Amino acid sequence: MEFSYDDQNIFARILRGEIPNKTVFENDHALAFHDIEPQAPVHVLVIPKGAYVSLDHFAGAATPEEQAGFMQAVAEVCRITGVDDGFRAIANTRAHGVQDVPHFHLHIIGGRHLGRMLP
Ligand code: 5GP
Repeated sequence: MEFSYDDQNIFARILRGEIPNKTVFENDHALAFHDIEPQAPVHVLVIPKGAYVSLDHFAGAATPEEQAGFMQAVAEVCRITGVDDGFRAIANTRAHGVQDVPHFHLHIIGGRHLGRMLP
């Protein structure tokens, strides 16, 4: 499918420094920051710095360096937040996945037992 990126979305504005964020980790290709409405004691969003709208866009179009940088950020978030007992990683995608912000982001949620996930 064709992916079209809106550079006025809120995470694009965070990446440009127009909106503040509570950064957990940053490298050349990714930024991780606390969700503004945390659903658990740990709720961090990991986003690529490139203009990708969704997981399938990122997985299909990002360079190996961008993908490695993103995964390094995921690993660092897990280390820094200490979610050793486990966590959930969620990438809500488009309408059926109820994605609000059209810049790819992975939710890392943990710090408590999360229960079984419903469909
Ligand atoms: P989605 O439904 O797109 O997967 O979730 C978007 C997430 O972004 C939500 O959990 C929401 O709380 C978070 N969010 C929305 N606006 C902001 C913001 O300005 N700053 C931060 N840190 N998180 C935001």
